[in-house]
This record gives sequence, structure tokens and C-alpha cells, in this order.
Amino acid sequence: MSSEPSFILALDQGTTSSRAILFDNNGSIRSVAQKDFKQYFPKPGWVEHDPGEIWSTQAAVAAEAVAQSGHSGNSVRSIGITNQRETTIVWERSSGRPIYNAIVWQDRRTAAFCDRLKNEGLEQMIREKTGLVIDAYFSASKINWILNNVDGAKEKAQRGELMFGTVDTWLMYKLSNHKVHLTDVTNASRTMLFNIQTMEWDSELLDLFEVPLSMMPEVRSCSEVFCELTSDIFSTKIPITGVAGDQQAALFGQMCVEEGMMKTTYGTGCFMVLNTGNKMVLSDNKLLTTIGWQINNEITYALEGSVFVGGAAIQWLRDQVHMIKTAAESETVAKSVNDNGGVYFVPAMTGLGAPYWDQDARGAIFGITRGTSSAHIVRAAIESIAFQVNDVLTAMEADFGEKAKEMRVDGGAVANDLLVQFQADVSRLPLLRPQVLETTALGAAYLSGLASGFWPDIEAIKAQWKVDRAFNPLMAEGEVAETIRFWRKAVNRSLNWLD
Ligand code: ADP
Repeated sequence: MSSEPSFILALDQGTTSSRAILFDNNGSIRSVAQKDFKQYFPKPGWVEHDPGEIWSTQAAVAAEAVAQSGHSGNSVRSIGITNQRETTIVWERSSGRPIYNAIVWQDRRTAAFCDRLKNEGLEQMIREKTGLVIDAYFSASKINWILNNVDGAKEKAQRGELMFGTVDTWLMYKLSNHKVHLTDVTNASRTMLFNIQTMEWDSELLDLFEVPLSMMPEVRSCSEVFCELTSDIFSTKIPITGVAGDQQAALFGQMCVEEGMMKTTYGTGCFMVLNTGNKMVLSDNKLLTTIGWQINNEITYALEGSVFVGGAAIQWLRDQVHMIKTAAESETVAKSVNDNGGVYFVPAMTGLGAPYWDQDARGAIFGITRGTSSAHIVRAAIESIAFQVNDVLTAMEADFGEKAKEMRVDGGAVANDLLVQFQADVSRLPLLRPQVLETTALGAAYLSGLASGFWPDIEAIKAQWKVDRAFNPLMAEGEVAETIRFWRKAVNRSLNWLD
């Protein structure tokens, strides 16, 4: 075994870039390659990607990451894929040509159609089957739009000539030279066409969204042999053995593998996911119920809640009002004052998500006095990220019926110690920041490496997951209650701003 393969290659196909990361047997990063691709905004509220560019950038970074390591494809034991979820691609079975651009999860073009479904009283039925709230976010209404708006698409679909895929499906189709049409349960669970109780495409939902079953990929677990990479990126064939949507992959990459464990990713938005074990918990607070992963025959369910504007509040300070030059500077500026000086910033620039769900809320800054400086506002912006995450946490604990014991954190904004400490303070919860912050790619690598025998079992992986720093709550209880009281007051005043 002289030229023994020694890495796992994770393909991390995100909303703004395609990345590839090579992990070694310790779960450490050996190389990273990244390429941004173009965002198309054909009309207000519409967001598209070119599926060809998703593929070409992903293929290029895969080759680049391996080349950077000084090794060849022979050194890659297997490949894991993680991807932007819900984004919808439809292509021709015969030619492999997409019939329309990828409609991205953020795209709102089907909002009115979704409102009609809500008005028809379908919310309960859809929630019980899919765990989701009716929203343009998910794939179903996007497929429906393509079939009804691209010339001849509906007829072609009825004749079985079209294929649908989320990005994982599209990538596997391309990687295998058009041989396979597969997805995994986590990506399937975000389409709004997959019944997460029976684990099948749901015929009632397929009918409702006018999607023929023949378009749908075969659904697999997250950790098994999906297909072989046979395109010419590498001269060797490499098996693809792990697939999960980005948030689920991050949950696994954070090794939140026991019921009750949770992670929050602090990026542009913030995504909290809680492992609810083999229980499918339906939310009373409009959180989403989803599949965390399936390994062998065992299904792990999860609850998910998100904050729309997280790190984006810091971007806003940097790019729109120029209070800081870099995101990292937000911490130094915030630390130049002892506290928020009574300033509360509600970054409801795009409305508010769980548990408020108010599309008409707008951003506001409260408590300004003659003594307020820009440092107070910057500090309030950082704190607003933690307050919002705390609101989601409270909703999640209510749904799950248990207090959280700890939270694992990752994403670009957790470089900010002040943010993570404040989160620990207001949530009165220990927060663990791991050494490897690329948890999404790491999760895909773990799922792949488990199936390819790179790691023997989850226990072996758990042993290598390492904390960089733990943040424990320090703020006095009375002070926490008081600051949360002011935060809630601020939120209430920014609700329903547009009328
Ligand atoms: P995404 O994957 O959503 O693009 P990332 O995980 O790369 O996001 O994180 C980028 C986000 O984190 C940006 O919104 C940025 O403003 C924020 N961010 C980055 N560094 C810091 C920091 N030191 N303090 C606060 N926010 C930060």
C-alpha cells in the first residue's frame, strides 16, 4: 500500500462561491481552493445562478485543492458534497442541458403563489408531511415556476424528458458524466415535496405543485456510495460517499451527534440547528423541522431556526454607513466603550424571522442620547446578532421542551470574541468554538470518510473534534434580564413598520 490514499476531498458548493477543501485523517485542513461565481438579479427579488458556472467553478476548485496539496487524485480516498440548499435546477434528460438558470433559495418570485396555497389552508398538511412552512424559499414552487414559464417545459416534463435536482444532484450528475440522478435525505427534505415521515416523494405534494415523479432523483442516505467521479478532473476514479445540505453538514461537522446538541453558524445570516434524535418535533414557533442526516437506516431529525441579518449587520456598518473599515474592526471599536450605553439596534433590514415572522418590520436604532457615539452603535450591532440568536434559542427550547446545555458555534462572525462572549452571557449558556471552523466542509468530509472506511466510526471522529475556546456566561442574571427587556422593547417598536 505505498500510494495509499490519505485525504478526503470536500466540495462545498455555496451561494456565492464554490470551494474545495482537502482534509487529512485528523480532520485537519490540508488545502483550500475557492472561486466566486456570478449572481444574476434579473428582476427585483429574483436571484439566479448559471448551472454551468456552478459546475465549472466546482470542478476547477476540486482540481486546484488537490494540486495545491502536492498530491494527485490517487491520494483522495473519497469525496463528500455539501451545498446551498433548495436552489433548483431543471435539465433535459437527453442532452443534460439546463432549460433555465438555477433559481436560488433567496429568490422570491413564487411568493404570491405560496400565499395562495396558504390561503387555501394547506399549511397544516404541508407542515405535517414536510416539516416546512409554505414559502418561496423551498424548491417545490420554483420547479412549478420553471415548468409553467419555460416554453414547452410542461409537456416535456409530462413526457419524462426533464430532470430536477438541487445542487448536490446536479453536481453528482456532472461528476458521474450524466450517469446518476441522486440526492440525499437532507437535500430532499428541503424541496417541500419529500415526506419526512414516510421518507418518500409525496404524491399529493407532487400533484399540488404539478411536478411529475419522473423528474425526481432517487433519495439516498447521507453516507454511502453514491457514484464514482468519472469526469476528467482527475485521472483516477474517486467514489462520492457523503452528501448533506450545508446546515446539516455543519451540524455533523460540529459533531452534534447526540439528541439535544446544537450548533449555530454566524455568517451573513445565522442558522441554528438542534439535533432532536429520532423524534420529529413539529414547531409551535414556526421553526422548521428537517432531517439532520441518515446514516445506515437511522434517521436523525433536527429543528432549524434562522436569523436573516446576522453578520450582515456588520457588513452594513462597513459598506453603507462606513462606521468601520473591516468586519474585524467592529470588535476593537465595540471594546472602546464599556457597554452599549443604552443603545439597541434592531437589524430588521429585511424583516424579522423566527419567532417574530414579520416581513414588514424594518431596522431601527433606539436609545440614542447626546452621549451616544458610533462605538455604541457598533457595539449594539454586535449585540443584536446575539439577541436575535437568543430569541431563536428560546423558541427552540420551547418546542423541544428542554433547556439547552451548550451551543457549538462557527461561521465568519465567531472570530469576534465579544460577540461570542455576549451570546454566552445573554443565553446563559456555555458556547464552544471549535478549532476547525470549516464545519460545513468538515461535516461532508466526515460523512464521506465514514462510508469509505477512512474513519472507522463516529466515536473515532468525536475524539478528534477539538475546542478552540469555551465561553462561559459571566454577566449577572439581573443584568441579563434587564438588557433582554430593552431588546424586546426595541423589537416591538420596529415590528409592523411598513403597513
Ligand atoms: P457567509 O458564509 O454567509 O458568506 P461567513 O461565514 O463567511 O458568511 O461570514 C461572513 C460574515 O461574518 C459577514 O457578514 C461579516 O460581516 C461577518 N464577520 C466577519 N468577521 C467578523 C468579525 N470579526 N466580527 C463580526 N462580524 C464578522
